[in-house]
Parts: sequence; structure tokens; C-alpha cells
Amino acid sequence: MRMPIAKVWRAFSELDRFDDDRCRVYVAEARSRRRTLGVVLFAVGSFAAVVFLVITGALAGSIQDEIPNEIRYDALSLLVSLSTGVVWLVALTAVVLLVRDAWLRSAIRDRLNTMTCGACRYSLLGLTPRGEAGSRHVVCPECGASVVLTPEMLEQLEALGVGSA
Ligand SMILES: [Zn+2]
Repeated sequence: MRMPIAKVWRAFSELDRFDDDRCRVYVAEARSRRRTLGVVLFAVGSFAAVVFLVITGALAGSIQDEIPNEIRYDALSLLVSLSTGVVWLVALTAVVLLVRDAWLRSAIRDRLNTMTCGACRYSLLGLTPRGEAGSRHVVCPECGASVVLTPEMLEQLEALGVGSA
């Protein structure tokens, strides 16, 4: 199983034929196109985390009041508080990483989806463009359709080192 973050591009078979350096550039561009959504997700996530912490803090405070004074600050309760804090921190980090990973995956998936044959949806990534600049095209290996490359498609091929061929 692939760990979140580590070489996210290896989750996409379309990118298998390209080396890590090429894929890193490709993924960086996919990420920058989604920056606005990323910032919104981050803001919403942070706000939710703060609200959650305030609520659990208030709950913990009200529970704390129920505990008799003489045992409130003993070593055991301190240990329980600390380990609870650590568990929450780990869980929160895991959620943040998973959300970030899902966001990045969907950014890459959307980008890959623009690089497909309009007729049969076959991936055109990695095909060498033919024709003059301004009317570059590729022939779909699956259905034989001639696909004129949009600037977005050319940019993708360039990121992967096949645009200038
Ligand atoms: Zn096709």
C-alpha cells in the first residue's frame, strides 16, 4: 500500500512510464492549478479543527470539575491527559494528511483526464505530437482519431519532456 504523500504519482498508471523528476514537475503543476481549492480546504479544515478542540476542551473542562480535587492532579490523570493529547494529535495529523492526499490525487486525476482522446477517453499522455506549431496533434492509438492538442495538453507534454519532440 502506498503511503500518503510519498510519490503520489505512482498511484496513476498513466504516469508509470515517466521518471520521478518528470512526475514531480507534472504533479507540482497540477497542485498549483488547484491552489485556490487547496487554500479553501485548508481554511475550512483549520476552522473545523479549532471548533473541535474548543468543544472537546470545554467538555474536558466540565468533566474535570466532576473529579474530586484530591485525585485531579495525580500522576495517573496527568498521564491520561498527556496520552489523550498525543492520540488526538496523531489522529488530527493523519486526517490532515489523508485530506491533502485525496485533494492532490483529485488534482492529478483531473489533469490526466484533460489529456485523453475525445472519442474514446484513451490516455494520450506520452505520445509525440505531430504537425506544425499551432496545429499540433496526436493520433489516438486506441481508436485512430486525430486529436488536436490544446495549450493545456501541450503544457502537460512539455512538463513530461515530450512536448518539444
Ligand atoms: Zn481514441
